[in-house]
Amino acid sequence: MGFSFPVSSAIKTRLEKLGLHGDADLALHLPLRWEDETRITAIRDLAPGRPAVVQARVIDAEVRYRPRRQLVATVADDDGQLILRFLNFYPSQLQSLRPGRLFRIAGEARGGFFGLEMVHPRCQAVEPDAPMPEGLTPVYPTTAGLGQASLRKLVDKALQAADLAEILPADTYAGMALPAFEDALRLLHHPDPGVPLAALESRAHPAFRRLAFDELLAQQFSLHLARAARARKHAIPLRPGKLPQALLAALPFGLTAAQEKVWREISRDLGGERPMRRLLQGDVGSGKTVIAALACLQAVEAGMQAAVMAPTEILAEQHCQKLRSWFEPLGIEVAWLASALTPAQKKLALARIASGAAHVAVGTHALFQKGVQFHDLGLAIVDEQHRFGVKQRLALSAKGAEPHQLMLSATPIPRTLAMSYFADLDVSTIDELPPGRTPVVTKLVADTRRDEILQRVRAVCRQGGQAYWVCPLIEESEKVDLQTALDTHAMLQSQLPELTVGLVHGRMKPAQKQAVMAAFQANRIELLVSTTVIEVGVDVPNASLMIIEHAERFGLSQLHQLRGRVGRGARESVCILFFQNPLSEDARSRLRIIYESADGFEIARQDLLLRGPGELLGARQSGVPMLRFANPERDRDLLERAARLGPDLIARCPEAVAAHLQRWLGARAALSAG
Ligand code: ADP
Ligand code: MG
Repeated sequence: MGFSFPVSSAIKTRLEKLGLHGDADLALHLPLRWEDETRITAIRDLAPGRPAVVQARVIDAEVRYRPRRQLVATVADDDGQLILRFLNFYPSQLQSLRPGRLFRIAGEARGGFFGLEMVHPRCQAVEPDAPMPEGLTPVYPTTAGLGQASLRKLVDKALQAADLAEILPADTYAGMALPAFEDALRLLHHPDPGVPLAALESRAHPAFRRLAFDELLAQQFSLHLARAARARKHAIPLRPGKLPQALLAALPFGLTAAQEKVWREISRDLGGERPMRRLLQGDVGSGKTVIAALACLQAVEAGMQAAVMAPTEILAEQHCQKLRSWFEPLGIEVAWLASALTPAQKKLALARIASGAAHVAVGTHALFQKGVQFHDLGLAIVDEQHRFGVKQRLALSAKGAEPHQLMLSATPIPRTLAMSYFADLDVSTIDELPPGRTPVVTKLVADTRRDEILQRVRAVCRQGGQAYWVCPLIEESEKVDLQTALDTHAMLQSQLPELTVGLVHGRMKPAQKQAVMAAFQANRIELLVSTTVIEVGVDVPNASLMIIEHAERFGLSQLHQLRGRVGRGARESVCILFFQNPLSEDARSRLRIIYESADGFEIARQDLLLRGPGELLGARQSGVPMLRFANPERDRDLLERAARLGPDLIARCPEAVAAHLQRWLGARAALSAG
């Protein structure tokens, strides 16, 4: 790693900011877009909004302070004048724009108050007869203090210096009509004028697909190697016993066939000598909690502790209550750990966990903080795993020698993601809902029809039902957000005086939240106004009406999760999505998808297409290296081939695999999710 040509330490720091640590990284730093700068346009022929290059001399340049500090230059060619405006600039830029000096200026012109202008154009001083570039000009993602021209030179040097030879056997690419690695890179950095820009930009060009495929192969190698490394580790086997049967006998329902199947898979893994890394996915309401409970019992019966971690206090609390009601009759102690405990309560809980007196610990992220010591952690369960970062998940598993791990996800992972990011995990899927559920009817209602909705709330509650009224999260301001919830609560209370209207939001003290949720659970609150704190996991089967305000502001998986709070009992359930016109294109497609589909897998797949994998993986905050070029959904064919070839290549040519990984990952951490 490192650069094979001299790079000043200042530049090195900036390159590092871009994640570029050596020749190979720079060679793989692809343009954001390409511009056709092969022609000079006369200033008088500039069209607003269209990128163009002009060649002009500086008339004057100065820093102005109104309306705000900015560098403004006037330039002219034979028969036109143009204003250049820089809102952020370096003193060196002012110095370089000396009157009389000739520049090539690339940018988009727009009509300003004082005539035609370009904001933040790219300027390069030139001699009058300097040749024009022959191909398209790459524009790279960059950072402050590193101009396009310097970055372009660095990339070109790296392309000279880096080893771009083919690494994997030629048959890896047989029949795919893809260019060689080196040719693909050269083409992407410096496309010939004839290359169709549209194909490059849509990333459907074979050169781009070659890189995407290589990247997917690197990901497969890395995940398979991580899985193999794990298979060499030892875990303490948690042999199956009688406790799970005892719980099942006490439940008012029997497991569905799908639950039976996943429970067999998990139970078998727990009894093995390799640490389990299993993802249990199942749509909202498919009954994952009881499976987690059974797994805890198998661990406890084998003499080890289990930990259950949930992303929100409300959900952790609900798990704690549920597990206590199931486990205490079996003589099993459940400890509760959340940030809200008093110091004395916390000390006690920590002591019970450390001594092993508590068999099971339930809590939020408080569970993996430093002071928490388990006596003998055999199983770590993470609910709603996509809400946690990888680091947090690892922190919990580090609490035991090599505990088994079970991750639950109600945001089902599309097959493409399971094959890519989760290839080192085993996946169990609950693919049916418990019997007796009535599908939730979804209605899209314009915000203007509030009165009808109030009538409906009244009717549902009069028949003994309950309802949620969800106010959106407004990102810019938690205060405004809270105010909206408070106002909505007051409004509903005055318009529905015969109902008990409760309120829960993120700013409340945990004890208050808990009291409200308990009252809702017991049907002492009929209508619950809330912010998105109830998004995940909350289980009140008697609630059958969900109203979501400003549904257009929510993401797809959020809407699906929220809607999943109803339809949990035998009552016919309705979810009303209030929206406010006008709708953006994006919002319209989200609402259409959620309206048309009740299937979490389909919704997740659409979400992946709309937003990319970051959100689904919860990887944004986790630091998992994301795919830079490939998109598992768009490049599904490449992914399938990479997944098929990966293990085979590892077995056949381990050295080439290692070299390929070095090229693609370099100094980066392994892609493994732990
Ligand atoms: P999720 O998968 O979203 O976490 P939960 O575990 O909260 O779902 O289960 C949703 C509801 O379904 C709970 O009230 C739970 O008790 C109930 N449930 C789970 N399994 C069954 C089953 N096999 N038959 C009937 N009800 C079930
Ligand atoms: Mg759940």
